[in-house]
Amino acid sequence: MKHSPEVDNSTKVLRVTSSFRFEAAHFLPQHPGKCKELHGHSYKLEVTIAGEVNESGMVMDFSEIQAIVDESIIQRWDHKLLNDSIDNPTAENIALICVELLRSRNLPLSSIKLWETEDGWVEVSC
Ligand SMILES: [Zn+2]
Repeated sequence: MKHSPEVDNSTKVLRVTSSFRFEAAHFLPQHPGKCKELHGHSYKLEVTIAGEVNESGMVMDFSEIQAIVDESIIQRWDHKLLNDSIDNPTAENIALICVELLRSRNLPLSSIKLWETEDGWVEVSC
């Protein structure tokens, strides 16, 4: 027997997440410690959208989310010096700019998470 979602599932809001990585350099001029020196991170970014399932059974195609994030963020910052485009590129500021860039592409954002290291991340609820 094949399963299909109950009819009222179409009114549920689902959250869909895609994950990305980029390598970038930065320095924090106002930092009292070693982060004021030029160094790099392997950033991990999770982008979560929210919405109802459409007639094709998806909130949004993963490949569509990936294309938008790749064009607006990954191509902009991967292997770049973040200070060239962001004044004070803390993880918090980078995350807030991610939200701005993705909102301008009309992604129905729910939240984003940006890991600067394996152990530390910033989450923005949208
Ligand atoms: Zn750093």
